[in-house]
Amino acid sequence: MSAIDTLPPLREVIATHQLSARKSLGQNFLLDLNLTAKIARQAGALSECDVLEIGPGPGGLTRGLLAEGARQVLAVEKDTRCIPALQEVAAAYPGRLEVLNGDALEVDPLAHLTPPIRVAANLPYNIGTELLVRWLTPKDWPPFWQSLTLMFQREVADRIVAQPGSKAYGRLAILAQWRAEARIVMSLPPGAFTPPPKVSSAVVHLTALPAPRFPADPQVLSRVVAAAFNQRRKMLRAALKGVSPDIEDRLLAAGIKPTERAEQVSLEAFCSLARQIEEG
Ligand code: SAM
Repeated sequence: MSAIDTLPPLREVIATHQLSARKSLGQNFLLDLNLTAKIARQAGALSECDVLEIGPGPGGLTRGLLAEGARQVLAVEKDTRCIPALQEVAAAYPGRLEVLNGDALEVDPLAHLTPPIRVAANLPYNIGTELLVRWLTPKDWPPFWQSLTLMFQREVADRIVAQPGSKAYGRLAILAQWRAEARIVMSLPPGAFTPPPKVSSAVVHLTALPAPRFPADPQVLSRVVAAAFNQRRKMLRAALKGVSPDIEDRLLAAGIKPTERAEQVSLEAFCSLARQIEEG
């Protein structure tokens, strides 16, 4: 294994700073620097981008991002114990790493970074979906980010890239695929992490599209999709009863059979339905 920088191996960093993993913070660390460099490469060309990293922990992915040439990295870490280790990384890459000890849910990236911005993270499992939904549903589009390269539990990754007709297809697939291109770029077994989690993981790469694939009001689309999948076993005419009084007509006008279930409806058809409801 070749070194990607002159800093100590991550096992040594963890021992020196006594960073025993805490379950409550979703800590499953990546200690193989070749692997973190590989994940960083999935984030695309970094030399002309700033990068937001959530949950750097002992800094494996952070080092990968910096070694891959990221212009500037903002690393937001909740666990105060990790900060001294991350400061050592900052010292090895002068002026290129800002370490913020705080909660990712509270940070405004644009207060720290200059576009174009890419996001890369091995996310804490407990806030991963919440962060993704926030990044996918900003008030204005295009969003602050150009791409997201994110580690998720495999089951969540499958939901992001799911197509109609599959069990994994739902709100997350619609949100992700309406205004972004989403694909799974790496799969990782539990043994890649320390400590190993119970399930496999996957890295998803999402690229923001300049505009939505199909026109629709974001709030109406979100309401329709939430109602449709909240009762995914029901026919749409029943599941969407509360969304519009003449839902059968609206479904037909959108080219959707009222007896269909949410799982069978394409993104394009959901957008068409949102437009029909908005017009009403
Ligand atoms: N990036 C490191 C790696 O790949 O080895 C650590 C990944 S670990 C899955 C998730 C990290 O997110 C932990 O370091 C944890 O302390 C941090 N974390 C958990 N909740 C957080 C929050 N709300 N804001 C920022 N960081 C958080």
